[in-house]
Amino acid sequence: MKRCTKCILPETTPNIIYDSEGVCNFCRDYKSVALSNDAALKELFEKHPGRDYDVVLGLSGGRDSSYALYVLTQIYKKRVLAVHYKSPLSHEQGTKNAIKMAEAFNTKLVIITDKDDLHTKCFSNNVKAYYKKPSIAMVSMMCIACKVKWIDIFNLAKQHKVRLIVAGSNPYEDTSFKLAFQGIKEGSKHLYLKRLMRGISEIIKNPRYINKDTFMTTLRSYIYLDSKSPMLKLIYPGIRKIDLFYYIDWDENVVVDTIAKYGWEKPDEVKSSWRFDCLVGKMKDYIYYSSYGFTEKDDFYSKLIRENKLSREEAMRRIESENEEVANVDGLDQCLSVCGLKVADLKK
Ligand SMILES: [Zn+2]
Repeated sequence: MKRCTKCILPETTPNIIYDSEGVCNFCRDYKSVALSNDAALKELFEKHPGRDYDVVLGLSGGRDSSYALYVLTQIYKKRVLAVHYKSPLSHEQGTKNAIKMAEAFNTKLVIITDKDDLHTKCFSNNVKAYYKKPSIAMVSMMCIACKVKWIDIFNLAKQHKVRLIVAGSNPYEDTSFKLAFQGIKEGSKHLYLKRLMRGISEIIKNPRYINKDTFMTTLRSYIYLDSKSPMLKLIYPGIRKIDLFYYIDWDENVVVDTIAKYGWEKPDEVKSSWRFDCLVGKMKDYIYYSSYGFTEKDDFYSKLIRENKLSREEAMRRIESENEEVANVDGLDQCLSVCGLKVADLKK
């Protein structure tokens, strides 16, 4: 497969054009991620003082949120309430890491779980709906149940009178191709409205996504889509939600080396330490890979190359071994069995 000679984006990437030197338009038009800074973060802390804690942190037990806990408690000396969502579809190593990190950094940890099997029902319904009438724009519907867990996190913040909520996502994993699959240009105006309109039109074409179990979750998942969602400010005017790594530098080696010192581990059976903690991510990557020959990692690593945070050689080496793992249906079936599903059945 042809790939960009600067990053690793393959020819199957939506809207990709290579120039005479084989460099893609995403590299040519790339604007470095506009990060805020340490001073802005300190100002946020000052402007949003909390009563019982300074900050509520969503702690998945993945590498970035674990490192975020280190940064908040050890560097900024903040009183953190960590909240871990133990989903029926998450890897147990995520929960183990969350417990270990909370202990290491002397932090109060609240573990929340799936209520009324809502998560399993939503994922199971939406993965089946996808396979009945596949539309690549709707792959993200498999993630709706995780988005609504932020409601619990916001409620905990309100209960403890905390005004700052921190998420550990980093700016480079904000994949571009998902918007392209929805027919939306990156950075375009009225982004949230466009995503809503596209979602509605897709649901009209395939109403299987909506039933009594998924309706409210679908609606709420839109509100809690990400930290920039405009609805959050309206519903929680006194609370601010931020992504920590838009304020401080994120470096993969620093992240992994730091948390490893405190006992953080990735499961032995996976090759990458990035996003091992969720089956839904695996399912999505499986669909992207089997349909287009790439996964979220091709996009993520390409951004890291453009930011001089990863060499192209290293990215290629990783992709070759990690994408092979994505194609392994046996591993996926093991996880899908939580919902009584198998990849082979879905394709029927
Ligand atoms: Zn490129």
